[in-house]
Amino acid sequence: MPHQKPKIVIIGAGFAGLRAVKNLARIDAEILLIDRNNYHTFIPLLYQVATAFIPPKTVAYPLHKYLHSAANTRFFQAEVLAIDFERKFVTSDRENIIYDYLVIATGSKTKFLGVDGAPKYTYPLRTLNDAVALRDRILGNLERAVTCTDYERRQQLLTFTIVGGGATGVELAGALSELIPTSLVDNYPQLDRAEVKIILIHSRTRLLADFPERLGDYTGKQLRRRGVTIYFSTRVRSVTPEAIELDDGTIVKTATIIWTAGVEANLPADSEQLSTASTLSHIAPRREQVCVRSTLQLLDYPEVYAVGDVAYVEQDGKPLLGIAPEALQQGTAVAGNLKRQLRGLPPKSFNYFNKGTAAIIARNAGVAYLFGKIPLKGWFAWLLWLGIHLYYLPGLSNRLIVFKSWLRDYFTQERNIRQIDSKSTKIPFYF
Ligand SMILES: Cc1cc2nc3c(=O)[nH]c(=O)nc-3n(C[C@H](O)[C@H](O)[C@H](O)COP(=O)(O)OP(=O)(O)OC[C@H]3O[C@@H](n4cnc5c(N)ncnc54)[C@H](O)[C@@H]3O)c2cc1C
Repeated sequence: MPHQKPKIVIIGAGFAGLRAVKNLARIDAEILLIDRNNYHTFIPLLYQVATAFIPPKTVAYPLHKYLHSAANTRFFQAEVLAIDFERKFVTSDRENIIYDYLVIATGSKTKFLGVDGAPKYTYPLRTLNDAVALRDRILGNLERAVTCTDYERRQQLLTFTIVGGGATGVELAGALSELIPTSLVDNYPQLDRAEVKIILIHSRTRLLADFPERLGDYTGKQLRRRGVTIYFSTRVRSVTPEAIELDDGTIVKTATIIWTAGVEANLPADSEQLSTASTLSHIAPRREQVCVRSTLQLLDYPEVYAVGDVAYVEQDGKPLLGIAPEALQQGTAVAGNLKRQLRGLPPKSFNYFNKGTAAIIARNAGVAYLFGKIPLKGWFAWLLWLGIHLYYLPGLSNRLIVFKSWLRDYFTQERNIRQIDSKSTKIPFYF
């Protein structure tokens, strides 16, 4: 009888899923990688796509190219809809797939926190499509503002509002403060720079809650110096196509609202199905992630793992933050545990080695918190952020294009991505 290889199915070709594939490339098993896209999205640079810094293709790495070095792995492009943990199969929009071992690495998605109008009238930033839609909105606003003779309408078009003062909100605010008043408005002499407003709305008392307080304070100062207006301790009550209503009743007229405030696990099945699966009913209250054992296995199904943003993992009694290095290390750990399981050995507990976190604010300004101990700010932290992201960006040609774009922007402040793809418009202009 021919030897039947074990079948490992990995859902999600993000940081965790791809790292697992790489570490399983030499084992004697049949591996199937499933993703809705046939490319890996380098999410940390999406904000640069959205602000016309770098071209979209540089953050989308083709999976088939990646899998050249993994002969035991096939790629299947499909949307996973449900998982039957008892009968061990995955239902997708194309076909059902049976597994012996399963890795759920489907990441996270935007959470709109129940704010009325937010899902419909705001721009999230999690996918490449989100980034292109946002870029087109920003460029489209400027095009419209040039020909808009009504003062109030023009101000609305030139008011860019970001909800959420975490790393993504800060990075976007900083990038917009450089993009709009400088490089773009310079190209539209009809516009007055003073009319451009960038507003950051944050529910807490300081930015970047995951960093030490003084780094959060520094970030606030840097953004204000660049003309960003920050509303602290402020929540959004509702959103309409033309404005945002704050919890104190203030109405901010704005044609672009970017939502970075909430995040939740991106579970590859609807919650009704999940609540019937006993394993996945253990959802952590904070981020609705999947609870796992210390080995990253699901509580009731030892042949199923959840890794990356989708999983709720604690280290030293605190939940992990939901950043790429955590997902990468979990991808390595899950591959190690699968190898052990295949050899009949018990899986090992996952331990995260915290190399640190970093956020970029704007040119020459960044913050970093190395090894959870060493705070850094300013030029060196900015350079560190750029170096790390360039190193991890997949594909040599992507790295070269991105590096060239950064150099051009640094020395000339010139951003030459100007095309607007009308099909990507998420929210129509209402005026
Ligand atoms: C705007 C932004 C900026 C960020 N910046 C940084 C940063 O600078 N540094 C940092 O360390 N972290 C950053 N993060 C966090 C980091 O991107 C995540 O922690 C990381 O991507 C998690 O990796 P993952 O593998 O769990 O999920 P992802 O990388 O999100 O991958 C999930 C994959 O699953 C696929 N998928 C999901 N559902 C399905 C389904 N039902 N069927 C088929 N396929 C599916 C998706 O297409 C995707 O390819 C940022 C996040 C955002 C949103």
